[in-house]
Amino acid sequence: QVKSSGKGHYQFFSREMNLAIRRRLRLEHSLRKALEHDEFHLVFQPQVSVRQGTVIGMEALLRWRQPHGEIIPPGEFIQLAEETGLILPIDEWVLRRACAQARSWVDAGIRDFRLAVNLSGRQFHRRGLILLVGRILSEIGLEPRYLELEITEGSVMADIDRAVEVLRGLRQMGVRLAVDDFGTGYSSLSYLRRLPIHTLKVDRAFIREIATSTQDAAIVEAIIRLGHSLGLQLVAEGVEQPEQLSVLEDQGCDSVQGYLLSRPLRAADATSLLTSGRMPQTGAR
Ligand code: C2E
Ligand code: MG
Ligand code: MG
Ligand code: MG
Repeated sequence: QVKSSGKGHYQFFSREMNLAIRRRLRLEHSLRKALEHDEFHLVFQPQVSVRQGTVIGMEALLRWRQPHGEIIPPGEFIQLAEETGLILPIDEWVLRRACAQARSWVDAGIRDFRLAVNLSGRQFHRRGLILLVGRILSEIGLEPRYLELEITEGSVMADIDRAVEVLRGLRQMGVRLAVDDFGTGYSSLSYLRRLPIHTLKVDRAFIREIATSTQDAAIVEAIIRLGHSLGLQLVAEGVEQPEQLSVLEDQGCDSVQGYLLSRPLRAADATSLLTSGRMPQTGAR
């Protein structure tokens, strides 16, 4: 009896696994082709100053459009890209594209902005990252101060000593640095003062309930205080409601990013927004 049910289980399980593995292989196969077939593009989400209501910068976000038109969000392929190592050429492509975009904004006379680019953990910990960033900046002719690299709290904590070293090197080059998704890691807060960064991005998870949960509001307020006491700029992610914005304003958060202010924009729309400097009165959704 044990044997036959064991066998049944085995077959059921193996069919499930088979499907999952095939799906994964298919995605991996298309992901390998995506770069050479030019299927990636960037969108840009504004970061808005809470006090002035002006656009202080943009975050570049990767989009993958498959040949049949389906757009696959990063949440569905970044991890696979990390696991397969494909993230290295992908992140490099993103960095180059983003820097080229920033350069064209500078050429258009836009000077008061920064462009944030996400780095995967694997990219951040790869050897030669500092050289790579330096090479791309000089190739494209972009002043480093326009570029802000976002590293997640998790990838910093994976190897904090090394992280500090790499961050120092990047900072010396003049690049801005941000810790992304802050608050979701398992880290103690005391390590923060070791990090030579400029910006702390409070994770969306805490912003979601900020207007309804006194606990979440207290956590965000503490993060903002701590960040400010370390001389950092605070950005809140995922702001969707006016009530959330108003709590963040009371708490002294420097800037906000989220659907309330604007969805990620195509390059042309991002350019017009940067040119006008102010958010449209109606608020782009
Ligand atoms: P992230 O860096 O924390 O980026 C913020 C994510 O939140 C983006 O999702 C953005 O579209 C989304 N978002 C912005 N405002 C709101 C809002 O008000 N509500 C909600 N629900 N979501 C909002 P996206 O573009 O799907 O990216 C997801 C994650 O994938 C990013 O999180 C980042 O970790 C990663 N990612 C995106 N682009 C790149 C890239 O070029 N390279 C790497 N390595 N990772 C990337
Ligand atoms: Mg980010
Ligand atoms: Mg984030
Ligand atoms: Mg995130």
